[in-house]
Amino acid sequence: MTALKPAPCLSRSGPALLLTCEHASPAPPPQLARLAHEHQRFLQSHRGYDAGALVLAEYLAQRTGAPLVVGKIGRLWIDLNRPSEAPDLVGVLARRLSPKQQQLLIAQFHARHWHTVRAKLQALVANHKTVMHLACHSFTPILRGKIRQVDVGVLFDPRRADEAQFAAKFCRELRKRAPELRVRLNAPYRGTAPGLTTSMRKEWPSQRYLGVELEVNQRFIRRGGRAWAKLYAAVGDTLATLLAPPSTASTR
Ligand SMILES: [Zn+2]
Repeated sequence: MTALKPAPCLSRSGPALLLTCEHASPAPPPQLARLAHEHQRFLQSHRGYDAGALVLAEYLAQRTGAPLVVGKIGRLWIDLNRPSEAPDLVGVLARRLSPKQQQLLIAQFHARHWHTVRAKLQALVANHKTVMHLACHSFTPILRGKIRQVDVGVLFDPRRADEAQFAAKFCRELRKRAPELRVRLNAPYRGTAPGLTTSMRKEWPSQRYLGVELEVNQRFIRRGGRAWAKLYAAVGDTLATLLAPPSTASTR
């Protein structure tokens, strides 16, 4: 990764930004480190975590000055991007544990992550009209033998007008800065699938909460170099422009 360009924090008069990263690492719970050792390859695969998502999230936090909440457990143990009632909340490696042990992990990691996100949202909503929640993810370039024709996906709920408007603007601005990127709306996943932003939408009105997931193709992360540096810099510039207060935005 090349040197990061620091930037001033977003203005308090613009919309607030909250960054999260649910699949930041394949980290096992400390008490299961030995079991994790036996599954290193699986944990390091695209099923274990979103490679590069944390790098992107940390860059965006530095670029915008926004708070960032980072998940502390891999999704093969507990999937932090699932609501607590989801059948696939407990990942395949934790399914062999007793129900009591599973509940302990859910309380220790899932409940804590979601509680922190809610607390940050609450604090931001108190000082700003709208909070923009951007959850950073990445996806494998080939799934079940099929090449995915997307470089950056912007996932949102099309029924929420403010979110749809933000997503469309985000795509437009990002394409301007990096025309070579295949930027798609609601691809490679739907923005309304069960997950953190989908759940938060049920807790906040659409005027106060915009929940968007950013999905980046891992081929950029694997290759690294200029293309990856250009991608995250373009995403950072796009975000900073869209979240700047209107008077600042109009002078750019
Ligand atoms: Zn993810």
